[in-house]
Amino acid sequence: MELVKHHKDHTKDELLEMLWHLGEKGRLTLNSLKETDPENIFGAALGELAAAGTVQIEGDRISLTQKGQATARDIIRRHRLAERLINDVLGEKAKNPDLAACEFEHILAPELVDSICILLGHPRTCPHGKEIPEGACCRAAKDEIKSLVMPLTELKIGVAARVAGINTKDEPRMHKLLAMGITPGTSVKVHQKYPALVIEADQSQIALENAVAEEIVVWRPAEK
Ligand SMILES: [Zn+2]
Ligand SMILES: [Zn+2]
Ligand SMILES: [Zn+2]
Repeated sequence: MELVKHHKDHTKDELLEMLWHLGEKGRLTLNSLKETDPENIFGAALGELAAAGTVQIEGDRISLTQKGQATARDIIRRHRLAERLINDVLGEKAKNPDLAACEFEHILAPELVDSICILLGHPRTCPHGKEIPEGACCRAAKDEIKSLVMPLTELKIGVAARVAGINTKDEPRMHKLLAMGITPGTSVKVHQKYPALVIEADQSQIALENAVAEEIVVWRPAEK
């Protein structure tokens, strides 16, 4: 693959990528960096990043500042999405996928990153199993999924909806609800909300505490 050549220096980006990897391994220190970069190719870049307030160095410890984290996160996101793209689309045909991904991340326009993420279905990991940092598109997709369901307490009186799940960590309560026939797929209706919440499930009426009803998640019925 012939890649577009341009003159921007990527040393700082590559160093940030390296620091992120060390951070993931819990070894973000000058010593570990020295092991990774024995010829000190990134020495000058590290000084520049420190001067720019992107990294902080205290003794042997390196830390990314908030600004540094945001920048590094973006680079890693681009790199791992590029890996996914190369792996999923080119597969076996990719000659040197690791190198291609690293080149790719530099030429990927920021506004294209989310489009690729959407195209790939917001993948959570790269082909090596490492986490791809979330983008705005991933968060929006999650919200959309969230809006497909709602707590039973939000259901209007008399409107039928199917149970999507029970969202409780309280196991006895979960079993009790299941025993009452409130299982995923069951059609339920709110019969009354006051003075007590009464629902209709499978032709029987069940009174529920509000706190319990809030944990029952139903598929949002189509608006009429
Ligand atoms: Zn890279
Ligand atoms: Zn990877
Ligand atoms: Zn996404």
